[in-house]
Amino acid sequence: IFGRRVRNLSRQSQDRIADVGSYVAEALGQIKTVQAYNHQQQDQQRFAQTVEDAFATARKRIFQRAWLITLVISLVLGAVGVMLWVGGMDVIAGRITGGELAAFVFYSLVVGGAFGTLSEVIGELQQAAGAAQRIAELLQSKSLVLPPSKGLQVLPARVEGNLQLENLYFSYPSRPESYAIEGLSLSIKAGETLALVGPSGAGKSTLFDLLLRFYDPQQGQILLEGVPITRLDPHDLRRCFAMVAQTPALFFGTVEDNIRYGNPQASDAQVEAAARIAHAHDFILQMPEGYKTHLGDGGLGLSGGQRQRLAIARALLVDAPILLLDEATSALDAQSEHLIQQALPSLMQGRTTLVIAHRLATVQNADRIVVMDQGKLVAIGTHAQLIASNPLYARLAALQFNVEMGRSAQSKSTETL
Ligand code: ATP
Repeated sequence: IFGRRVRNLSRQSQDRIADVGSYVAEALGQIKTVQAYNHQQQDQQRFAQTVEDAFATARKRIFQRAWLITLVISLVLGAVGVMLWVGGMDVIAGRITGGELAAFVFYSLVVGGAFGTLSEVIGELQQAAGAAQRIAELLQSKSLVLPPSKGLQVLPARVEGNLQLENLYFSYPSRPESYAIEGLSLSIKAGETLALVGPSGAGKSTLFDLLLRFYDPQQGQILLEGVPITRLDPHDLRRCFAMVAQTPALFFGTVEDNIRYGNPQASDAQVEAAARIAHAHDFILQMPEGYKTHLGDGGLGLSGGQRQRLAIARALLVDAPILLLDEATSALDAQSEHLIQQALPSLMQGRTTLVIAHRLATVQNADRIVVMDQGKLVAIGTHAQLIASNPLYARLAALQFNVEMGRSAQSKSTETL
């Protein structure tokens, strides 16, 4: 009974310790926000509370173990007491000698001590079993995105990049009541540059997640080169994509490790060429050890724009047939953005490119622009067609270009002054 309790509590204790770890990692990872909002006091209290919870669970576990050991020791000592009494009676009655009783008491203490130790070992084993149960659960959890058990198809070595989205419906598992993508159908030809625009929360990034098969849609299907992506090995599927995410993820390691992330075999010359196209070469050379400079956790020590440029260089080096750019130039200054925009056409040549951008100036030259709103495809066409036909796009364009015109007028008048 106590062993089972110890096992359960050991498992809970592991979970509470994990809570402490993730809380600390989160607070330290966002330490600038914590300090900027003077949140140290509250964080100290929350940290203390998390540690207290872990401590309370550990104490409960130790309490149960203590009971287990106390019980065993009391039983052993009780048995020795009973034995002394019965044995003492036998010595008085002359059935055994005092020496025999002493020897028996000595042996039984040795055996009793061994049982006491055994109970401690059982306690420890139960504690380990509790922790192992958690690990076993984690090891047994299965990914929902798996290669099909039968009918697996393999993509040809050279993929053109034709994509077909057929009547997609998708809601996130944590929000099953509302669709993030609703009834979306779209056909994207190889080599085409397609821009996705629309208000925040329209489902643009979600569409990228579906293309990369991080989730499967509830209805509808996505075809790559005419093959449903659920029929492919996710590994085979994802080699066709190079992605620059909205918040570029960099890792602990050197600058060149980060650029080589998707293509570890790339030569130094290829790394440098990709960095040059992404306009990252110059700032990398200014760093203390150039391409060999070590970045901190999560790319610490770089500005937002520099991170984006490294992420773009990384995507270029992968040389995949489909390029996904999610707000890839949003953190760049106007000049770097302009330079990258100029480099992008040569990059996009021969590749299917999907670009998400809030700044319409960056997507005007796309072959087609898709306007999304609340998970639905509202309109599709070129910049000029959409200005004429779609009120949402016309409104977005009017707002942005007016603001930009206002800005340039303002800067001109400042120059005049
Ligand atoms: P933005 O331009 O601001 O990046 P978006 O068009 O890319 O917006 P998505 O990130 O695709 O929008 O989000 C679409 C909807 O799905 C939003 O309403 C969002 O709140 C919701 N959503 C996004 N990620 C998740 C998630 N992991 N779990 C539940 N809902 C999510």
